[in-house]
Amino acid sequence: MRFRHDLFLRCARGGCPDCGAAGQLKGLATIPDRCTACGMVLRRREGFFLGAMVWNYGLTAFGLLQGTRGDTAFLVELVRRMAARRN
Ligand SMILES: [Zn+2]
Repeated sequence: MRFRHDLFLRCARGGCPDCGAAGQLKGLATIPDRCTACGMVLRRREGFFLGAMVWNYGLTAFGLLQGTRGDTAFLVELVRRMAARRN
C-alpha cells in the first residue's frame, strides 16, 4: 500500500477525502455527518473504531510486557508480518 498524498492534503485542508470539496470542517474538530458536495459519510457511527482500538490496546500491552522482559524482537517480527500480509 502506498501513501496517498492527495488524500492527506485534502484532509489537512479540511476538505472531503473523496471529492476534495473544501469547507467540511465546522470547527476545529467538528465535521458534518456527510459531505455537502458528494454525500460521502464523514462521521462514523459510535463504536466504528472499537475493534481497531481493542487490537491496538492488546498489541500495545503485549509489546510493553515483552519490552519489560527485554524481548522486543518477537513483537517487531509480528508487526512486520502483519504489515506484509496487508500488502
Ligand atoms: Zn465529498
